[in-house]
Amino acid sequence: MESVIGRRLTDRERVHHIDLVKGNNDPENLFLFPGPREHRLCHNSLNAIVRDTEKVPELLRMGKLHFDRTEGVYK
Ligand SMILES: [Zn+2]
Repeated sequence: MESVIGRRLTDRERVHHIDLVKGNNDPENLFLFPGPREHRLCHNSLNAIVRDTEKVPELLRMGKLHFDRTEGVYK
């Protein structure tokens, strides 16, 4: 992530992997949250929609799940 944004992360910032695959560090798959609270809200929004998180990559591919980069939540 640091190579994407061109600076070191702050202590509060959290990097989120949109498809939940930690090894997928494609910039398109990364989202930077300003702090742990925002990151938690993002995961809460996902948990409200998807029970089996292993299916997240597939659901995103199929367009059945959408990550809103403006709000930092899943829809
Ligand atoms: Zn996350």
